[in-house]
Amino acid sequence: MVKLQMIENRLGAAKLKLTKCRRNVIIQENKIRTLQNSLEAKKEEIQLTKIQSDRLELELRTREDAISKSRAQLNLAKTNKEYAAILTQLNTTKADNSKLETQILDFMKDIEADEAEVNELNIQIDAEKQKLETIRKKSEANGVKFEADIKQIQEEWDDAAAGIPAEPLEIFKRVAETYDGEALAFVEKDDPKQQTYTCCGCFMGVTAETVNLLMTKDEVIRCPNCTRILVLGQNES
Ligand SMILES: [Zn+2]
Repeated sequence: MVKLQMIENRLGAAKLKLTKCRRNVIIQENKIRTLQNSLEAKKEEIQLTKIQSDRLELELRTREDAISKSRAQLNLAKTNKEYAAILTQLNTTKADNSKLETQILDFMKDIEADEAEVNELNIQIDAEKQKLETIRKKSEANGVKFEADIKQIQEEWDDAAAGIPAEPLEIFKRVAETYDGEALAFVEKDDPKQQTYTCCGCFMGVTAETVNLLMTKDEVIRCPNCTRILVLGQNES
């Protein structure tokens, strides 16, 4: 069973390698997706700014028409009072327009900055996509290799398992599943001078009685605390 545990460990390591090499592709895909989301958000922002800017542009044009009309009225003014009133109106509109022009200019600056960011994001996305291709190719090549390794180790596992009776093997499989492949735990003596023992799986005490059973009987004995299958350590066996 110790041999099976050693093969089980190798099997676990090989499977982990396969998972990791496949995960690299997913991580890179997620990275690209995040960048693409930022790109879409930026584009939407530009769209919204353009709508606001267009609205102001329209307002500006309407007010410019008003100014032209005021100018025409100015020439037709019959009294000084009327002239002054139109002039005041004209100046107010002019002042408003200059504010609008500043706002429109600010929007244009925002759009320019956002468009630069969009370009930057597009460049980044292209670069990350190229990286993804490299990672994918590498992952596929490694995946084939790791799968072959797993297959070979699995065969060794099956051979080793064939030498173990059905019931202990079932226990082994169940505990291995619970503890991520770690079905066995060594029992170590705490102190050479004392008869106290510890399970190296959970580091809880194991009674001398249990250790005695382990030494004398050829059956599966499990840690009462963590349920791992106990194996005598080098010093005890
Ligand atoms: Zn234990």
